[in-house]
Amino acid sequence: MKYHSYTLYNFMKMPQVEKLTASQQRDIEVVGNVLPFKASSYVVDKLIDWDNFEDDPFFILSFPQREMLTSKNYAEIDDILKREGKSEALKRKVEEIRLSLNPNSSGQSHNVPKFEGNSLKGVQHKYDETMLFFPVEGQTCHAFCTFCFRWPQFTLKEVKFSLRDTNPMIGYLKDHPEIQDVLITGGDPGIMKTKIFEKYFRELTESGISHLHTIRIGTKALTYWPQRFTTDDDADDLLRLFENTVKKGINISIMAHFNHPRALETPEVETAIKRLLSAGVQIRSQSPVLKHINDSSDVWATMWRKQVDMGIIPYYMFIARDTGAREYFAVSLEDAFNIYTDAYRNVSGLCRTVRGPSMSCDPGKVNIIGLTEVQGEKVFVLRFIQGRNSDWVNQTFFAKYNPNAYWISDLEPAFGEKEFFFTKELQEMYKG
Ligand SMILES: *Cc1c(COP(=O)(O)O)cnc(C)c1O
Ligand code: SF4
Repeated sequence: MKYHSYTLYNFMKMPQVEKLTASQQRDIEVVGNVLPFKASSYVVDKLIDWDNFEDDPFFILSFPQREMLTSKNYAEIDDILKREGKSEALKRKVEEIRLSLNPNSSGQSHNVPKFEGNSLKGVQHKYDETMLFFPVEGQTCHAFCTFCFRWPQFTLKEVKFSLRDTNPMIGYLKDHPEIQDVLITGGDPGIMKTKIFEKYFRELTESGISHLHTIRIGTKALTYWPQRFTTDDDADDLLRLFENTVKKGINISIMAHFNHPRALETPEVETAIKRLLSAGVQIRSQSPVLKHINDSSDVWATMWRKQVDMGIIPYYMFIARDTGAREYFAVSLEDAFNIYTDAYRNVSGLCRTVRGPSMSCDPGKVNIIGLTEVQGEKVFVLRFIQGRNSDWVNQTFFAKYNPNAYWISDLEPAFGEKEFFFTKELQEMYKG
């Protein structure tokens, strides 16, 4: 299969579009003007069950749904499109709605490190042992997820950050012996040509950085375009690069996004996983818990079991961030905790390498580990998996039970405390 994709501009040419009613087609057009979408030919032809597309997780993941906009915003776009079509007015309204969707959530811009006095754009160093790197060539995806919290990077120029010249990054790495792994992320770096991977890998592995143990690659290619590792023109070269890097003693870990067990069932993904594993690559899986997609403990238990059968290590269940079409996908902290607990209880210990549900928020990665009662007060028990200050890691704290909490910002300290133990220090960090 050759890669091609469907977007706002050509989805009406998709053979399957005739399954949609006129009003469903209209919804895609209206919402798609605000929330960019892109569905790969693989998603459209192999993953979506078109006989039942309205409830299909991959359809909802790939095509905008009417309820992803407020009815007010929907009506505004619908109206402008009818009256003026593509126009300045449309552009302005789209921009306005996008900005109202909190595009740069959770302080992404606060984590940019400095080298020799200059800000290292395209790099984040939030947790001591891991450095994130956003190569400019990896800032798009094989398909866009409708829940994506990074879409502003593709659509709003002012929040785009990436790196072309890697010398300062290599210099920074040399100066920071605490960094053990580099996480190449995006967008989806899986979209990069092998030649680009070779360039970055060469610099990372041949610059004498002996404290670099692992290169992680955050990619959704296994879900949206497994051919990246099988039949693409430069797939064999990529596998060879991975194999040679592992032979040099550097681990490669694919941080794969799998939102639903059905993404693990095609012959294409099976082959891709086998090839990666035989090249010595580790595969870990992570996904947000999302309404309409995977808000069921059965789905998660099935997914973790299947992953372990296939040689993948379950790693994280995330809470969806406060951005984009968040309301549509949002699962409350309580529901997320219950889904996680139910699924966890029903799988073997081999699947219990997973952690969650976890929020990647300003203070760090915060795991909901309990919902309980302490001396008559119902509370959430929370724990730091990662912390802006590494002293916070593995510390627990308590928040008042709130059935309508969807994010850490909805939580208040329990037991009449004024603030959480980390609040002051975090505020200081932001000032500094
Ligand atoms: C999740 C995450 C990491 C990696 O954390 P691990 O727990 O080591 O997987 C690094 N940086 C950011 C910003 C993250 O959200
Ligand atoms: S693969 Fe990741 S970055 Fe790309 S659209 Fe999906 S969530 Fe966003």
